[in-house]
Amino acid sequence: MKTIGMIGGMSWESTAEYYRIVNQKVKERLGGLHSAKCVMLSVDFHEIETLQHQNKWDEAGRLMAAAAENVEKGGADFFIICTNTMHKVADFVQQHVRMPLLHIADPTAKKIKAEGIQKIALLGTRFTMMEDFYKGKLVRDHGLAVIIPSAAEMDIIHKVIYDELCLGIVNDASRDQYAEIIDRLVKKGAEGVILGCTEIGLLIKNVDSQIPVFDTTVIHAEAAVDYALAI
Ligand code: GLU
Repeated sequence: MKTIGMIGGMSWESTAEYYRIVNQKVKERLGGLHSAKCVMLSVDFHEIETLQHQNKWDEAGRLMAAAAENVEKGGADFFIICTNTMHKVADFVQQHVRMPLLHIADPTAKKIKAEGIQKIALLGTRFTMMEDFYKGKLVRDHGLAVIIPSAAEMDIIHKVIYDELCLGIVNDASRDQYAEIIDRLVKKGAEGVILGCTEIGLLIKNVDSQIPVFDTTVIHAEAAVDYALAI
């Protein structure tokens, strides 16, 4: 079994899910007392979130690269960044370490295509929904068509992530708002929806949506186990 490197804490609410899922999946696959070999470095999300909203991505990237170096020194064979948004600096981080990065968008796109879906809606932070680093990868590397919410809807989604979900607050009214946004995305042609922020799965489940949901936390954590156990 390979050792999974994890850069977490963004937020710890979803990193706790990652830790639970990788261990549960290894147990399912190998049985008995087997558990995941992993090295986790969990950052202080306050520092990262401040840099994001001040548009200081270079500094955030340096922080993430230093974290990756320490994860590698800790013995990881490959690594995952346990957030969609911070994949904005993924290429920069990868340049600082030898171990390969398992990019969150790759197993997500693979799963979407395996379901025969081509037009996919994307929910996430405003950075993930608006910028090219994530959508571009889905479109260019995987040939998907990506539908994003309106500017007003993005404001709601972004605010709920930082003001509620990353603080562990799961609110029924916010779930309703998300469900309404998903309904409107279906009318725009979406055949499925990516929960492209690792905390959204705490709020939205398959039952809250008329189209299939792709929870990046679950998909990414399971893909890490598949990679760790591949011969
Ligand atoms: N965990 C979230 C994501 O997957 C948001 C937190 C962050 O900004 O990293 O994008």
